[in-house]
Amino acid sequence: MTGHILIVGGGEAGLSIAVTLRDLGYEGELCIVGAEPVPPYQRPPLSKEFLYAHGEPVTAELRAPEFLTDHRIDLILDRTVDAATVNDSGGLAVLDDGTEIAFDRLALATGSEPRRLGVPGADLPGVVSLRTLADATHLRTELEHARRVVIVGGGFIGLEVAATARKRGLDVTVVETTDRLMARAVAEPISTFVLDHHAAEGIRFLLGTEVTGFAARNGRIGAVQLANGESLPADLVLVGVGAVPATGLAEKLGLVRERGIVVDAHARTSHRAVVAAGDCTVQPHPNGLDRLIAIESVNNAVEQGRAAAHTLLDRTPPPRGVPWFWSNQGALKLQIAGISDGYDDIVVRRDGVERLTVLYYRSGNLVAADTVDNPRDHLAVKRCLADGKTIDPVNATNPGVALKSLIIPRPEMDPAQ
Ligand code: ADP
Repeated sequence: MTGHILIVGGGEAGLSIAVTLRDLGYEGELCIVGAEPVPPYQRPPLSKEFLYAHGEPVTAELRAPEFLTDHRIDLILDRTVDAATVNDSGGLAVLDDGTEIAFDRLALATGSEPRRLGVPGADLPGVVSLRTLADATHLRTELEHARRVVIVGGGFIGLEVAATARKRGLDVTVVETTDRLMARAVAEPISTFVLDHHAAEGIRFLLGTEVTGFAARNGRIGAVQLANGESLPADLVLVGVGAVPATGLAEKLGLVRERGIVVDAHARTSHRAVVAAGDCTVQPHPNGLDRLIAIESVNNAVEQGRAAAHTLLDRTPPPRGVPWFWSNQGALKLQIAGISDGYDDIVVRRDGVERLTVLYYRSGNLVAADTVDNPRDHLAVKRCLADGKTIDPVNATNPGVALKSLIIPRPEMDPAQ
């Protein structure tokens, strides 16, 4: 196929679409418009290694510049698509500098933005969030001068940065509104295990605690005010309270949205000339539940991007692999295989104080597992889910028995269910 495909968004999903298009033999024009001033790079290290590093920070680009040139992937950086119109045979995008780009098909990979806290003082200097390389560079500089750091939000970003800041020897407090850590994604045993680990490293936790505002001192952050009337002295605050899908352009195009851009399993949006992939989307639930789900992970961005590229070329996407995710928090390595959302039972497999696995079941079948410092269990679960099997829950509680030896066929489904 020839023509012009425009991809909006230069992150993991956008690049995956572009690379897959070329892999599939697409020979037409291909252009990525990215809002950031740098070529596509790896985001996960920004909350981890990037913040520890001494000397010049090293950023890992996703593809070498020569690769992009060789594959004729045009990058327009530091630009946003401000407006676009589309009909069944193509459309026109207008960039923020007025440039117009005509396209035959459009791909949205616009990602997400950090959710902001609507409390007084949220825009004081020294109150920061983290998503882009520019955010991470700023945070890194702030960490060099900080002594007391408050992290608002005990989710993945918050805990990764908390562990990093603690490792740099700083005084770190995490403030979380719910009564446990990472409650959106993991079951209670994982939350408690991770909290105990970080607490032993010297990180302080205030759970069930609401932030009501930020107070200034000498023109920048001085203290975090809590709903219980207390005030936490702070010279740096990281707000990590979740992400909001970037759907502004989708809205202008009139695409169906439900928090994120609604796509099907082939990354199709409600408009036949437009696909979408990555953090900006919500998609059918991989476990067959009757609801849409946002899957914020590198793995999803890459695989959904691949699916989108197939759809753009009117090809059927390959079957999706088992979703996976990881979060390195200091010395602790959390890995997630499958999607636990919608589980009705868990099995806990604890191996001393060092390792923990939680298996998630729905209607008697394994749907996901979280493992802390247990790559062997993670791999066994990935294999099991990829093969459409389950794990014997009775013997799985014994950490002395290898999980891979407990993989069994799924029981026959009762057709009445
Ligand atoms: P992220 O990717 O930004 O870490 P998560 O959803 O994993 O996003 O985690 C966000 C965390 O922030 C959740 O644990 C959530 O309960 C918490 N949170 C949300 N709003 C607030 C708030 N106002 N104050 C403190 N914590 C909050």
